[in-house]
Amino acid sequence: MFWSQPQQSEDTHDLMTSLIGSAVQVLRGDAGIFVVSNEAFDPQSSSEYILYRIDEAVLLPLLAHVQDGMQPNSAHPLLFEALPPDLISQLNIASEVVEQQGLEYGSLAVYDREGPLGVLYFLRAATTRSCLEQITADTQQSESRQDSKPKEQHKALYSFIAQLADGLRSAFRCLSLVKEQERLAAIFQNCTDGILTVDNALRIIDFNPAMERLTGWHKNEVLGRFYFKVLCPQDRYGNDLGLEDSAILQVFAGQQIIDREMIICARDGQRFNVAITASCVRSVRGELMNGILNVHDLTRERQQEEQRSTFISVISHELQTPISIIKGYASTLARKDAQFDPQVLQSRLMAIEEEVDRLNKLVGNLLYASRIQANGLQMDIASLDLEHLIESVLRRLKAKAPDVSTTLSIPEHLPIVMADRDRIEEVLQNLLDNAIKYSPRHPEISVSCYSTGEEVIVSIRDSGMGISVREQEQIFRRFQRVGDPLSQPTPGAGLGLYIARAIIEAHGGRIWVESTLREGSTFSFSLPREEKAQLPMVVF
Ligand code: ADP
Repeated sequence: MFWSQPQQSEDTHDLMTSLIGSAVQVLRGDAGIFVVSNEAFDPQSSSEYILYRIDEAVLLPLLAHVQDGMQPNSAHPLLFEALPPDLISQLNIASEVVEQQGLEYGSLAVYDREGPLGVLYFLRAATTRSCLEQITADTQQSESRQDSKPKEQHKALYSFIAQLADGLRSAFRCLSLVKEQERLAAIFQNCTDGILTVDNALRIIDFNPAMERLTGWHKNEVLGRFYFKVLCPQDRYGNDLGLEDSAILQVFAGQQIIDREMIICARDGQRFNVAITASCVRSVRGELMNGILNVHDLTRERQQEEQRSTFISVISHELQTPISIIKGYASTLARKDAQFDPQVLQSRLMAIEEEVDRLNKLVGNLLYASRIQANGLQMDIASLDLEHLIESVLRRLKAKAPDVSTTLSIPEHLPIVMADRDRIEEVLQNLLDNAIKYSPRHPEISVSCYSTGEEVIVSIRDSGMGISVREQEQIFRRFQRVGDPLSQPTPGAGLGLYIARAIIEAHGGRIWVESTLREGSTFSFSLPREEKAQLPMVVF
């Protein structure tokens, strides 16, 4: 079973054309058309007729004429009529015989025990006779003289019709099988689930593109290989499966395997969870021929599930901390029996304000994230002097956290960019906050800018804890935090970089990180120079 290489339906069509051509020739015709018996005949659809030496251009007037005339049936299977001269001239048949004798068309009803298959219309010189008609004419005379049974007398014509019907019936079956095969091939090629088929010795005989994407194996690398060795399946707990657990062997033995969860191995050795459904194909004699494995990747669904539960835990955790601090301080301050000196009072109130700010930022980020997901971000784009903006953000940072050391390096005449000031300020703020948050020792931050022909690049370097290469790809996704999001000592919901990326990309820029574990990280983003900007105003 090779769904990826279906047989061509043209081959079957050629076969039918030669069948019709032979029939036309036996009837001494020069050209013909077989019209498939169909209640809702559509002359525009080429699958409804088979042409033999007839030009497509005359098809419609010819069909209209012959279908208006007398139609043959099983009692009178072969009829003739003359063709009108205007139609003959359209047919463009240049022949002396035709000029002298005129052109007629015959209609032959083609049917078998299952019913009518269609009508064969053929064109020929008016005085020509085929051997089938001579017999028919003779037998018609003898029929009137001897009153013998008509079926006996028309034997040659009827057996000709039966043979033609037989050939056409097989060709139609073959055509519908080929079409079915083409449909299956399209499903096999385009299905988003992986499908592999094996022969009865469990060797791979077909491997669809989804399976290639899923496993990283190219079809040509696995064809003919034992499927169990390619997938190296494990049960859902990671225990290696033996051949006796092979899903295909089990369906061969009559078991049902639907959505069985297991772990399979990709070409690069990575393991991932899949749900498999197995089935088999038997020959008419019941022998096992093929096994089919449908492989549904569960990783994405798992990731989404994990993301949902991480979201709930992270958000509750992030909300709980400031709420308990606010509650604690507020209840202490509300005690009627307590006297507070103004400094203590002031520090408690400041702590409450800080926690409220934190809550506010979290709720703001959540709203932001859901807006990115739902409606897109609207940008208010204008010319922006990045140097001024960075200086003012750093000034505020110094006032808030005087012990953080910062340096700024900006070349003279830094080009103006096109950007939404408030949004870029949020990005800068976020990257600077992170640089402080993730620097356990005394934070040292340097901000630098440079321009290329197309864009201006801003980099924020810290000497903090750094991020492993594997994690660097993840942190720009929603709710992604390095390590366990719940046991991280630093507060955060894993939304800041996700939002920063959405903002920068909405400006037509890029954001990226270079980092070495325990040495520090450099986050950079680019914005298009004013004269180069082609901005998408909404990002989804
Ligand atoms: P949050 O800081 O609220 O968790 P972010 O989206 O801003 O969310 O950051 C995602 C994760 O990336 C952080 O949890 C942290 O693990 C890591 N990270 C971000 N910035 C830095 C940095 N400068 N140094 C080390 N790790 C960082």
